[in-house]
Amino acid sequence: MSKLYKPDILIVGSGFFGAVLAERLANISNKKVLIIERRNHIGGNSFSEVDKKTNIEYHKYGTHIFHTANQKVWDYINKFTEFNNYRHQVLSKHKSKVYQMPINLETINSFFKKNFSPIEAEKFILNKTKKFKNYKHKNFEDKAISQIGKELYNAFIKGYTQKQWGKKPKYLPESIFNRLPIRYSYNEDYYQQTQYQGIPKNGYKDIFINLTKNKNIRIKLKEKYNLKYKIKPRYLTIYTGPLDSLLNYKFGKLEWRSLSFKKEVKKTRDFQGTSVINYPDLKNKFTRVHEPKHLHPERKPFNSNQTLVIKEYSVKNDNEPYYPINDEVNRIKHRKYKLEASKIKKFEFGGRLADYAYYDMDMTISAALKKFEQIKKKIK
Ligand code: UDP
Repeated sequence: MSKLYKPDILIVGSGFFGAVLAERLANISNKKVLIIERRNHIGGNSFSEVDKKTNIEYHKYGTHIFHTANQKVWDYINKFTEFNNYRHQVLSKHKSKVYQMPINLETINSFFKKNFSPIEAEKFILNKTKKFKNYKHKNFEDKAISQIGKELYNAFIKGYTQKQWGKKPKYLPESIFNRLPIRYSYNEDYYQQTQYQGIPKNGYKDIFINLTKNKNIRIKLKEKYNLKYKIKPRYLTIYTGPLDSLLNYKFGKLEWRSLSFKKEVKKTRDFQGTSVINYPDLKNKFTRVHEPKHLHPERKPFNSNQTLVIKEYSVKNDNEPYYPINDEVNRIKHRKYKLEASKIKKFEFGGRLADYAYYDMDMTISAALKKFEQIKKKIK
């Protein structure tokens, strides 16, 4: 890259938020975009790659299922990839027995050794939860118990949540529990309301390559950013990283939960029969076990006599942020950072890290498309 290169737009970070904005700005607004990325690859935490030993594609930062009910997002992303027909299911292993997740009629019948119909199961759970319906403290634990009762909570939710967040569920916001439905039917799809679902046929990396395929988009990997960054764009910088490090932690650190993974090749055709099994018991230090070949049943390695198995551990590590710990203290801190960052001239921000929000991929794409609509008027 020539030293004199001056982009119209500088984008910091190449996850969905940055890559979608780069695509729009280059293709629609005909602007010169420079993306800088601190890692040695594009795609943020959605990145996937093929394991060399097994030829199995795996998601480097944990299994990512693309799912959305947003027609606009679905139409948009399908211009850059084709999806397979994968539909996500999750199982949960409690005391050596495997149950269906999210909790559904099969989970309830199997756990309580019953043969309830949907209406009977609903009454049965209501009986267990009615005394908790008017819960006073709005936190994850109270919310969960008021929805599913103590037994199911203790078996499937309490330990998992504690391991995942490194905090007692009493100290977590109830909004996290809203991600998990309870169903009185045998529907075992993990994502119920969403119409569209799948895994990119050529892997996630391919989407990012296609999004940024434009002679007006340049990418510089292994490049760090700070507010004194040497390259000043003509119009705008779009920053997608955490706001606390950007502003030198002046209001203190925002807390994040991070993940670590242990990969292993097993000499068997099929290790666990599905892509993800959750481990809610505290005696297992890991939270889930991934077997990525199940994400691509259409591919050749699906039938090979070896498989890749990845254990997921939840850890505290502010350098590799995955999940925002969206409690009151952190939210207040984030608000201060947001206000401060919005005062910076020729500067925009967004995405899961900058917004400190538990976005799924489709929400991030939707946010990026909206951001583009806002900024395109300013850069004419
Ligand atoms: N959760 C749980 N048990 C499970 C699955 C999820 O207690 O078997 C809780 C846990 O607190 C988790 C939250 O529900 O953080 C959201 O789960 P989701 O599967 O949406 O998490 P993600 O896939 O985004 O990590």
